[in-house]
Amino acid sequence: MRKVLVLEDEDNIRSFVVINLKRAGYDTLEASSGEEALEVVRRNPDIRVALLDVMLPGIDGFEVCRRLRADNAKIGIIMLTARTQEMDKVTGLMTGADDYVTKPFSPAELTARVDALYRRTGGEPMMDNGEIRQDPFLLNTRNRTLEKAGRRIKLTQVEYSVMKLFMENPGKALSRDEILEAVWGRDYLGEVKIVDVNIRRLRLKVEDDPTNPTYITTVWGYGYKWGF
Ligand code: CA
Repeated sequence: MRKVLVLEDEDNIRSFVVINLKRAGYDTLEASSGEEALEVVRRNPDIRVALLDVMLPGIDGFEVCRRLRADNAKIGIIMLTARTQEMDKVTGLMTGADDYVTKPFSPAELTARVDALYRRTGGEPMMDNGEIRQDPFLLNTRNRTLEKAGRRIKLTQVEYSVMKLFMENPGKALSRDEILEAVWGRDYLGEVKIVDVNIRRLRLKVEDDPTNPTYITTVWGYGYKWGF
């Protein structure tokens, strides 16, 4: 699932944000104080994007941002600010935020910003230890293994290469030719149908219900997408 943290002390604003992000397909985790937010992130290291309100009781959003960034260079951070002074924005970005949204914001604007940041953080999904984690999947590029919810999934080398291509391009539609070239190589002489054959087999291994795939989806007339 695409996990997003929403830190906001005002219940009505938090609910508004959460409802809209859920509608857009995100799995939201909520916090109403900075301290709680840090705890939620500690327990959920796979959170990819954090929305942080600035004005909070206790430690403020900038401080949360600074501490999150100190522990995790990859998490995407968007500040939710009611204050429009340029100085606040500069301070936010200096503490490591990637973007900011000024209140009041529309659901469409907020979702667009989260989508954009989510894609950007997905652009370099590799962690320093050679792992790509996209819940419930964990791909280890050092020993070329895949786990789903902690269970090893046995893959052929070709299937592994397809999975790696997918997990390096989350949410991106990949054409069958693109997959063929990336996995089988430019000089492969067989038919592009080999891609479909492998995808069918991969689905049997990774999908909860292979007849109704949700991880590897078909992009009709084009190819496939790894996406949530
Ligand atoms: Ca507030």
